[in-house]
Amino acid sequence: MNTMQGFIDEAEQALLHTYNRYQVVFDKGEDVYLYDIEGKKYLDFVSGIAVFALGYHNEAYNNALKEQIDKLIHTSNYYYNVPAVEAAKKLKAVSGMDRVFFTNSGTEAVEGAIKTARKYAYLKDGSTDHEIIAMNHSFHGRTMGALSVTGNAHYREPFEPMIGNIRFADLNDFESVASQVTDKTCAILFETVQGEGGVHPATKEFMEKVRALCDERDILMMLDEIQCGMGRTGTMYAWQRYGIKPDVMATAKGLGCGVPVGAFLMTEKVGAASLVPGDHGTTYGGNPLVCAAVCKVLELFEELDVLANVQKVGAYLEKRLDEVATEFTCVQERRGTGLLQGLVFDQPVGDIIKRAMDKGLVLINAGTDIIRFVPPLVIRETHVDDMIAILRECIAQTEGERK
Ligand SMILES: *Cc1c(COP(=O)(O)O)cnc(C)c1O
Repeated sequence: MNTMQGFIDEAEQALLHTYNRYQVVFDKGEDVYLYDIEGKKYLDFVSGIAVFALGYHNEAYNNALKEQIDKLIHTSNYYYNVPAVEAAKKLKAVSGMDRVFFTNSGTEAVEGAIKTARKYAYLKDGSTDHEIIAMNHSFHGRTMGALSVTGNAHYREPFEPMIGNIRFADLNDFESVASQVTDKTCAILFETVQGEGGVHPATKEFMEKVRALCDERDILMMLDEIQCGMGRTGTMYAWQRYGIKPDVMATAKGLGCGVPVGAFLMTEKVGAASLVPGDHGTTYGGNPLVCAAVCKVLELFEELDVLANVQKVGAYLEKRLDEVATEFTCVQERRGTGLLQGLVFDQPVGDIIKRAMDKGLVLINAGTDIIRFVPPLVIRETHVDDMIAILRECIAQTEGERK
């Protein structure tokens, strides 16, 4: 039963039904292409949702992992290990932050950030009723803490009660944030570019005003860079374009380029006045295997000049998507920066994405009406051209059926 449908049928018997999956079984990857188990080739503009930044089957990356597997895969955080020290040093250097805690996922990085904020405030006044301001349309993960700050009632409601004392405001509406601030506010948390919520970059004005407010009230500014970080917008972290710096940030997805690793980072000021031994921990987080991956990823970012590529090809993608937005009436606008882009339609995009899949192009949505483009960061202009050609066909067909 080596057919695709055979595997899909088996999968549907065994896996919990938490995804409406596309009817494809991927088998291997090469550069910016994926192959399914029947040998069909796909151009990948998803990269495992902003994860496989370096593309598939990067030899240097694979070899670094293989070497580490033969040396040491895991040891407890009660001991030091060389890859974790190296990875933390490199991460500090590229982020300008001072303290690193490695996690296994993005959602755990957000959990760590929330605990940091609560502990920081607790040490100041000893009270336990502090509040966090998060944004409508945000996405921070699926565990209970991260879900509590996710600005989408549909995701939260069945799992209530959430952790308490979360208030929601609107990204890029500073007054909506300021009006939620109380004496109990310990943190303001948002994605520098909202990903799942529809590809909305924070404005410079919003970032600056939140930073000033946080400084004035000793509130922690916490940025979720899990999707928009790791070079995706053309700087290592998206906030680095704004001339401000957060107090706490979360990173994951592209950080390990495929192995499960995330991190939350903070400034020395916060690190020295928040979590202490016994407050937080993880069995796997920052083990030698994933940290060897982080080290190699950060090395390859430099060697391959990934940021320069994102700036160049990101600008090209932007231009080509703008053309598509002008050409088709069902496309309302393009949003985004670098290689995190969204095309906003006046109708659900599921059809277009399915058509693209049939034609060998992997795309993903962000919400029902937006196609999101998060390709490997090593993508080149010719790949953008190939993608645009297929995309135009798919949109034209869908528009044709509507008439
Ligand atoms: C994906 C994502 C998360 C959650 O990361 P997981 O590794 O899936 O837990 C959190 N925040 C943002 C902005 C994300 O894009």
